Amino acid sequence: VMSADKGMIEAALTEAYNKFKDLQEGKNADYIKELANVDPNIFGIALVTTDGQVYTQGDITSMVSIQSVSKVFTMAKVIEEQGPQAVRDKIGVDATGMRFNSIVAVELQKGKEINPLVNPGAIAASSLINGSDSAAKWKSILDIHSDFAGRPLTVNEPVYISEAGDNLRNQAIAHLLKAYNRMYFDPVQATDIYTKQCAINVNAKDLATMAATLANGGVNPITKKKVVSPETVMYTLPVMATAGLYDDSGQWLYTSGLPAKSGVGGGLLAVCPGKFGIAVVSPPLDAAGNSVKAQKAIAYVVEKLKADPYLIQ
Ligand code: GLU
Repeated sequence: VMSADKGMIEAALTEAYNKFKDLQEGKNADYIKELANVDPNIFGIALVTTDGQVYTQGDITSMVSIQSVSKVFTMAKVIEEQGPQAVRDKIGVDATGMRFNSIVAVELQKGKEINPLVNPGAIAASSLINGSDSAAKWKSILDIHSDFAGRPLTVNEPVYISEAGDNLRNQAIAHLLKAYNRMYFDPVQATDIYTKQCAINVNAKDLATMAATLANGGVNPITKKKVVSPETVMYTLPVMATAGLYDDSGQWLYTSGLPAKSGVGGGLLAVCPGKFGIAVVSPPLDAAGNSVKAQKAIAYVVEKLKADPYLIQ
């Protein structure tokens, strides 16, 4: 997708926006109390090409908490720092086949194969980030997210406070991992870092830029900064493809062919390798926990642009 396709991209985004803007399906997440208060009508689409062009439709300024989408970038940082084998050995890369915050998934395999894109593996990934203390690890995580987005990101304090006061389940997961020697830092502090990471504020353009940086082999196509290596991206995308959309990861890959990641804040990003990153923010979620409008809008654009990499013509 290069400048010749400008008109096509613009048309695809406008059509997707108009087609789904009035759809009233799904419901904001409410197990984190603050998420229930987010405006369910926020709907923004952004597409950033690997040559740095930005296309947008709708609300791309409203911010939501990044939630599980952050798991991609913390995992990428661990791969960058410690290599792909460390993630394979210390966390695991097979899908758990269970809910994103499953304690059974940890218990069944004694903490092996917990996957960095669901809570147990993600908390383990946060615990693995280089840094001598909690502040250093947190700074590194916030910095990598900012580098992917191409601007300094900040934390949504009400969301962080709301979840930090109510994350006993994630703390239990972290402690259970510790019991199985699969937690690599203090479990209370690792859970806190993870909770803060989930509360980073982003808009649709931020998420699309983050996806475009992955699509571009780790170089942010807008700032031109080399954020991670091409090899790190090569190992990050398959985990997204197999586990990026909770229990509907297979459905999603079947529909779009694109590695992607959703979060309960309503963000969803997808990566078309070598071509573009695309993202939608729309808080109402379906039963699997994925944004309803985001899935539909991205699938529509992918089809219009014939961007499914498995389409060989
Ligand atoms: N912070 C959320 C949690 O741990 C993230 C969930 C998600 O987006 O999947 O429950």
